[in-house]
Amino acid sequence: MQYPTHEVVNQPPPLEGHNPYTLDMALGEALAREGAAWASDALEELGALAGSPEFIEWGRVANAHFPVLHTHDRFGHREDRIEFHPAYHHLMETAIASGLHAAPWVDTRPGSHVVRAAKFIVWTAVEAGHLCPMSMTYAVVPCLAEEPDLLAEWLPRLASPEYDPAFLPATQKRGITAGMALTEKQGGSDVRANSTVAVPDGDGAYLLTGHKWFVSGTMADIFLATALGPEGLTCFFLPRWKPDGSKNNFWIQHIKDKMGDRSNATSEVEFADAWALPVGPVGRGVRTIVEMINRTRLDCSLGSAGLMRAGLAQAIHHARHRAAFGKGLQDQELMVQVLADLALESEAATSAALRLAGAYDRVARGTEPPGFSRIATPVVKYWICKRNPGHSAEALECLGGSGYIEDSGLPRVFRQSPLNGVWEGSGNVMCLDVLRAMRREPESLEAFLGELDRAAGADGRYDRALEDLKKALTEVGETVARRLVESMALLLQASLLLRHAPGFVSDAFVAARLESPGIAYGALPDGVDAGAIVQRAMPE
Ligand SMILES: Cc1cc2nc3c(=O)[nH]c(=O)nc-3n(C[C@H](O)[C@H](O)[C@H](O)COP(=O)(O)OP(=O)(O)OC[C@H]3O[C@@H](n4cnc5c(N)ncnc54)[C@H](O)[C@@H]3O)c2cc1C
Repeated sequence: MQYPTHEVVNQPPPLEGHNPYTLDMALGEALAREGAAWASDALEELGALAGSPEFIEWGRVANAHFPVLHTHDRFGHREDRIEFHPAYHHLMETAIASGLHAAPWVDTRPGSHVVRAAKFIVWTAVEAGHLCPMSMTYAVVPCLAEEPDLLAEWLPRLASPEYDPAFLPATQKRGITAGMALTEKQGGSDVRANSTVAVPDGDGAYLLTGHKWFVSGTMADIFLATALGPEGLTCFFLPRWKPDGSKNNFWIQHIKDKMGDRSNATSEVEFADAWALPVGPVGRGVRTIVEMINRTRLDCSLGSAGLMRAGLAQAIHHARHRAAFGKGLQDQELMVQVLADLALESEAATSAALRLAGAYDRVARGTEPPGFSRIATPVVKYWICKRNPGHSAEALECLGGSGYIEDSGLPRVFRQSPLNGVWEGSGNVMCLDVLRAMRREPESLEAFLGELDRAAGADGRYDRALEDLKKALTEVGETVARRLVESMALLLQASLLLRHAPGFVSDAFVAARLESPGIAYGALPDGVDAGAIVQRAMPE
């Protein structure tokens, strides 16, 4: 029986059965611009899965069921195995089948890294936690390339399109994933403070003893780990199973109780004479591992762009189905300003992240020198990740009280949102890296400014801001690093929008971010065509 008090009115339908890829015009255009339009069908297929009720539910369930650590079996033997909910395995299976883990390393088509980047953004809408092992698996490959024999043996397993969660030696598996173990209790940013020691075993391998304080994707099959050998800090290849088929001495102590990213097991681990092989020159561990770190920094930018896009879509959807004070929210002028500002940020983030992915693609193929990607990686990572938490909070607020309720999915987006800013180099560390690039690789700054110059003359306000940046670059110290990197990021985003986005988007971005910035989202200057921006962000 239906009681009159139970009639539900003015509540939006769930946002499902949609396609997060086809709805995202900025992403589709960036994909084509960066040379990967050939993959739009594959993206559309992945987008259909990302919007399906089935995958949305798996994303929820994978976070509702925290992974369980089994340190020992019932007979007292060490197990060091983590159990995940089947929903997590479904997500992993689809992400790997879609090539999010390593496809570009075996797909020789120009643009394959861009395709993966766009898929990463689309798939973030489903669930962000399981994308950590995807990033690690992708990022490990350029480091392994330092050791051609290791690469030849392991790349086919890493790039396999099959997910195999069995806890078995890699030779018995259909596909594998990788992880990274750098951070220790006494230092994360400062990897040189590592205290894990590596002792040569006399047979070309090393035995590692020490602890690692944060190890995500803990059930990966192989890890890159840093440790102090006789020659100094070195990067090591550490498999979960030793070549003789026995388990490596990789003892999981504890799964961390994180504020978000709940589906992904991040653990504290101890190595006790763990078997490992050196990767790259011994004593040059930082130089070697930086190749992996740069790729994961790219993924942090993609992940935050994806989270912003996911929040924006929910916010616009809600406003289109909810009325207040006798009028649809989508027709309330102030709400449209907020949605438009969120859309500007999302489009700017997507454009910058895809531009960076395109640079990585071209550098990998030798068609672009590495200067731009060297400096743009920390610039873009710093800014997109920094803008993410405020964006997620504002998107949540667009749903009012319902946005604060778990079922809306937005609390999960919000709790995830600070993470990309922290890991793989926190904000200050990113800014210091930009200064380092300027000092040690001045050609990287030249390449970056060359990119900004490409939009010169398109808008007087942009030209003035670019001039100011060039003046500021004559005196760069740590105290102004954040301000400087912020300007660099905003100008990069503006330059991309001025060249490639519709005029109403680029004009609003230049006005709201360069000329007359408001502090909170929605504080757009007068005269912005907010309605057109929202319509572009999510065509009806
Ligand atoms: C959920 C999660 C998963 C993670 N997974 C992994 C993983 O799989 N593998 C792994 O190796 N690590 C992992 N990490 C660790 C992460 O990379 C580190 O937390 C991060 O690099 C920061 O290191 P830290 O925690 O030691 O902080 P610290 O290095 O102590 O930094 C603390 C603060 O000081 C700032 N700071 C540091 N140096 C300077 C300086 N010179 N000048 C100014 N400010 C400075 C930093 O920006 C930061 O804000 C993970 C972290 C989290 C939260």
